[in-house]
Amino acid sequence: MLRCIVMAASVWLTISVSFSSPVKASPILPPVDVIIDAGHGGVDSGAFYDTLYEKDINLQVAKRLYDELAGRGLNVILNRIGDYALSDENQWLQIRSRHRKDLAQRAQLAQQMSPRLMISLHVNWARHSAARGPLVIYPDNQQAQILARLLQHQLNELYKTHRQPVHADTYYLLKHSGCPVVIVEMGYITNRQDRKLMTRPAHQTRIGREIAAAVEEYLLVFGFLQMKGTADSSY
Ligand SMILES: [Zn+2]
Repeated sequence: MLRCIVMAASVWLTISVSFSSPVKASPILPPVDVIIDAGHGGVDSGAFYDTLYEKDINLQVAKRLYDELAGRGLNVILNRIGDYALSDENQWLQIRSRHRKDLAQRAQLAQQMSPRLMISLHVNWARHSAARGPLVIYPDNQQAQILARLLQHQLNELYKTHRQPVHADTYYLLKHSGCPVVIVEMGYITNRQDRKLMTRPAHQTRIGREIAAAVEEYLLVFGFLQMKGTADSSY
């Protein structure tokens, strides 16, 4: 079972998804536009610096991103709403690796719900404290690459950086989710400036807003959203 929240009829619902059955998304739910993957959780803290944990930043921004996307009328799922490990909810994969069970649980949600896209939120780490700024990672998938470019552009504007998104095929989630999926590294926990930004609520909201803007643009490009305003039908 997996606890997550979805936006349905303008109401926050907490649902449980069972992976014991191969049945697709529940017919009572509208088609899912976006799954937000709040990286890590519980015993898996992700990167850390002193007492600052990546898992907490991921969740804080994920909730803000959820609000931004839902506020734009999109159907959104957030796969973690508290500090717990998704591997604990994976009762279907009989292997010993907690890490693999955690990742499989995240990928399985995407496979079951078939969203238009999935965004996995993370915080970066580097040996050198000077490394800073956001970085978007995409798999060998053209739609994901376009999504990554849009996201990187928006986040570069916010951080005043000039990085390009990076292609990688080694990440489990990027290979097994069955939908366009990207990893968004929101900054470096090892960089003082990034730490300050990523822990500031106003900046967390800005990250959510910039990501939501890129997502909206992506959905427009692929025809999943109609342009706002009245279309001129005179020619
Ligand atoms: Zn991470």
